[in-house]
Amino acid sequence: MIFSYKSCDPKYVKFQRIVMGWLAIASLFLRDIDLVWVFFAITFLGLFSGSVYSIPTLFYKFIHKLFKVDMVHISSHHVRYYQVNSSVDFIDHLLRFAASSSALGLYYSGFETSAWLLMAFLSVFMMLSAYFGFCLSALTYIGLENIREKCKLKSSKLCDTKKDKPDRTYNQNCILAKRCFTPYMRCDSCHIGISKCLGTKFNLLVIIIGLLMSIFLFVDDHTLIQINIVLIMGLLFWLGYRINYSIDALVQSNNKNLILNKQLKNYTESLEAEVKRRTAEIEHLATFDMLTELYNRFYFENQLTETLDTLDDRALTHLAFIDLDKFKLINDTAGHLAGDRLLSNMAQMLTTVVGQRGIVARIGGDEFAILFKEVTQDEALECCQEICDKAGRYEFVWEEQRFGIGTSIGLATLKSSMQDIKAALHHADQACYNAKKSGRNRVSLYK
Ligand code: GH3
Ligand code: MG
Repeated sequence: MIFSYKSCDPKYVKFQRIVMGWLAIASLFLRDIDLVWVFFAITFLGLFSGSVYSIPTLFYKFIHKLFKVDMVHISSHHVRYYQVNSSVDFIDHLLRFAASSSALGLYYSGFETSAWLLMAFLSVFMMLSAYFGFCLSALTYIGLENIREKCKLKSSKLCDTKKDKPDRTYNQNCILAKRCFTPYMRCDSCHIGISKCLGTKFNLLVIIIGLLMSIFLFVDDHTLIQINIVLIMGLLFWLGYRINYSIDALVQSNNKNLILNKQLKNYTESLEAEVKRRTAEIEHLATFDMLTELYNRFYFENQLTETLDTLDDRALTHLAFIDLDKFKLINDTAGHLAGDRLLSNMAQMLTTVVGQRGIVARIGGDEFAILFKEVTQDEALECCQEICDKAGRYEFVWEEQRFGIGTSIGLATLKSSMQDIKAALHHADQACYNAKKSGRNRVSLYK
């Protein structure tokens, strides 16, 4: 069985602290200096082993060696906290070692009261640090964090890889985890405040503890005071347990929510991207001709309508209607594919010749149209003539077959008196028909 470090080690660290705390309390109540020696010995062992591993980790290592059982699995995510915690633990051991050796020193030097006062301090300190972790551990942790921030040490130094670096934005909100409670345990993603973890029960307990403490002011009985101290300790014990329990539950549900939120965000993002992609596709289909990539009839007619709506009397807007000559022959002889290729080639030629003078569209099978803007009639005529010349000279080669082609173009100047685009298209179409009739591959001006 593999326990995660997160769920396993801190519990044993806590257990160790609680045992030490009760040991200190027992020595205080029994006034037994041998128990202080036991405290001192365990602390020394902790200090000695803590320079490399904490006592619980040593225990896991021992089990692993003996039974080949992996008891601790430290996820790379927690490596940093583990390292911070190790140093915190080591300092804890050091302080306890200093305090207990001082107590022993004081006892044997004849300062008994001072020795027991020191042990009293240790008992309270051990209990509080076991449950709330905010004593020296947390202070040291915050100190280390600050130093780390100040030195701008990269987290990658403490983590396995950069990829595993815990999300800092998550941790920044983790007030409880960082400032009050065993930091390494709950630095995942708690966006919770202390008020959410505690409630009526907490207030009630605080009142009871307060009342019990006030008894000190009025009671003189030694035994009663001792019972009172044990009672307060018990209540603190239970309070700590409740707080830990509630926070764990809250953090777990908070984590679940965060994961769900992340998933939801991912889904929404991919959905949005898909909608965007499809919309762009539809827009493209509504604007361009699939074969030639020129504008399509729908878009061209819209442009024509807009142009007619804002037309003035300067006669600088013209519509050219182009029909390829003898296109069917190519289709019938060389096949549809050859016809398609020719249409694409023609589209390319039209775009190049027209340039900035207007917009080109494919409006039917072998039919194209040009909307000239801010161009004189002569210039438009010249441009259409160039198209005819180029088409006339063009030789289409398909599977060693050669074809000639031509373009019949009808050109009509748009007038503000035109009611709708039908009239404009009719004029250009009529002119194109005239061009066909008078021998093809020529430009005919609508009169
Ligand atoms: P004309 O000189 O009188 O213009 O005759 P034409 O041979 O060019 O034939 P017409 O303009 O009357 O007909 C155009 C032909 O274009 C009809 C149709 O089979 C063909 N066509 C229409 N759309 C496509 C297409 O997308 N690809 C191909 N390859 N051919 C098409
Ligand atoms: Mg044709």
